[in-house]
Amino acid sequence: MYFYSEPVLTLISRPSFSGPEHLPVAWMGDSTDGERLAEFAGRLCYMSQHNPAKRPTREYLENIKKQGHGSVLEHANYSILFEGVSRSLTHELVRHRAGFAYSQLSQRYVDESEANFVIPPAIVGDDALEREWRTQVESAQGAYVALVAQLMARYGWVADKVHRRKMAREAARAVLPNATETKIVVTANARAWRTMLELRSSEGAELEIRRMAVAGLRLLQREAPGFFSDFEIYVAEDRREAARISYHKV
Ligand SMILES: Cc1cc2nc3c(=O)[nH]c(=O)nc-3n(C[C@H](O)[C@H](O)[C@H](O)COP(=O)(O)OP(=O)(O)OC[C@H]3O[C@@H](n4cnc5c(N)ncnc54)[C@H](O)[C@@H]3O)c2cc1C
Repeated sequence: MYFYSEPVLTLISRPSFSGPEHLPVAWMGDSTDGERLAEFAGRLCYMSQHNPAKRPTREYLENIKKQGHGSVLEHANYSILFEGVSRSLTHELVRHRAGFAYSQLSQRYVDESEANFVIPPAIVGDDALEREWRTQVESAQGAYVALVAQLMARYGWVADKVHRRKMAREAARAVLPNATETKIVVTANARAWRTMLELRSSEGAELEIRRMAVAGLRLLQREAPGFFSDFEIYVAEDRREAARISYHKV
């Protein structure tokens, strides 16, 4: 059993842009494929591939955000594998619909007898609270293991073993806590990531998803500054990191 006190994020997919030879753009400045893809799409609208204002890509994208032409950002998709996050976090995360795709570990198919758990940020670092929390979590996992065994026996008459296991696990998981660790692949376009990160990195967001959003923001800022550089990460009054944005919901 492992107890996570930080999420683990891995960028597993980024855009690949192949500019058409018959519509060459006069690129300027540093950029990634995702950023060039968005610039190409934006320039197509006005057929301004010759870059009359001599704007580097990231400055061009800054102006797109400023003007609120966010649909251009929808061409660039990024996929992140999230691990070390709790079921309660993903329950909130999947409320973000527009521009998002999700694939999450199934608790009906996957045995949770050896599941890991995520320590709520407010509990991390306080020995007494952590002890109390671990006792409850370990007891819940023990109950899960016992229930699976009893349910497998109860449904012994179900010939298909895969189906029988699914029946046992889907019922037994009811005793697992919200803190049970899960894994989820999330794909979203840059505009959708911005909206979600704005909401979930704010001071009003729940602490675990806020910590995840700040980590996701750092990852995406490194990957494609042109899309995410207007977010500022700071330490809020509650001594936790949060972020604020310059261009709200582009
Ligand atoms: C701090 C915080 C507290 C929250 N507390 C609660 C809570 O107590 N209970 C609860 O149930 N939820 C809660 N939520 C979730 C919240 O209500 C939203 O479901 C979540 O933030 C996703 O936002 P969204 O719908 O804007 O996102 P998305 O689904 O990604 O949509 C993005 C945008 O697309 C547009 N859009 C998407 N779908 C439609 C549609 N069907 N019709 C019209 N426009 C659409 C809207 O402009 C929307 O803002 C909370 C969220 C936060 C950040």
